Amino acid sequence: MTAIRPSDAPRLTHTADELRRHLAQARRSGVSVGLVPTMGALHEGHLSLVDACRRDCPLTVVTVFVNPAQFGPGEDFSEYPRPLEADLKLLAGRGADVVFAPETAAMYRADHATYVEVGGPALSFEGEFRPNHFRGVATIVLKLFHLVRPDRAYFGRKDYQQSLVVRRMVADLDLPIEIVVCPIVRDPDGLALSSRNAYLSDDERRRALAISRSLRRARQLVAEGTRDAPTILAHMRELLSAAELKIDYVAICNPDTLEATDRIEGPAVALVAARVGTVRLIDNELLGPTAGADVTKL
Ligand code: AMP
Repeated sequence: MTAIRPSDAPRLTHTADELRRHLAQARRSGVSVGLVPTMGALHEGHLSLVDACRRDCPLTVVTVFVNPAQFGPGEDFSEYPRPLEADLKLLAGRGADVVFAPETAAMYRADHATYVEVGGPALSFEGEFRPNHFRGVATIVLKLFHLVRPDRAYFGRKDYQQSLVVRRMVADLDLPIEIVVCPIVRDPDGLALSSRNAYLSDDERRRALAISRSLRRARQLVAEGTRDAPTILAHMRELLSAAELKIDYVAICNPDTLEATDRIEGPAVALVAARVGTVRLIDNELLGPTAGADVTKL
């Protein structure tokens, strides 16, 4: 691998050709390639995906691209933070091998006209509040899959619905890629890490804690034996409203289909999207017998 990674700094590429050429060398040597797609403004959540990728794959490719196709009109595409130098330092520290950070025009030519049409898990929740969001996500993820041709790709459970949409696309389009979904990384006070947390004022950040608190409450109620989803949702809404958050949705669903569940008899997922001032945040927690362990650390 020394030819691929001559120094501690990851190899930075900006164009598809450059990336392909660079990866062809690795592919010839037969190593498995892992991909971590991001929009940059990296934090420990992203870096946990890099760590997971490095544990599994000899070659870790991280993409940093703020994808215009997944932002709606009036969303924060132009303000989205783009601290590439700082991101590269963080990635060097975590041992990423290759960083692909293209300009918008390198990914979407002016006459770009082809998008992935997504259905199934893409239709509800984020799909309702952010029309075309998952179409944009699926399109860029598929493009990155074609460019990098990874054996494995790493996503965060923070974007729970996105992970289902990606898994479904991979299954439906017969892509030979293993999708690995990693646990949510939180600040010690419970707030799920997000690049958008940087937009929060101190007061908003404090109020935003109601989101993880509501999910913890849901977990606790299930652990105490409550099975009635509407009862749990009422508790969650109360906590969110008390912090003056504007709720887009709060739901308890089947974790595979995202169909709403009335009674929690098996695995379930609680999903929250809420606005704190102008900042829209999403979070989720697994509920039920197979629930993940990460929330118990809060
Ligand atoms: P983004 O840069 O927001 O597109 O996120 C890139 C990847 O990082 C996605 O797979 C996210 O789900 C994942 N991610 C973002 N925040 C977290 C977090 N707090 N914990 C784990 N994964 C995360």
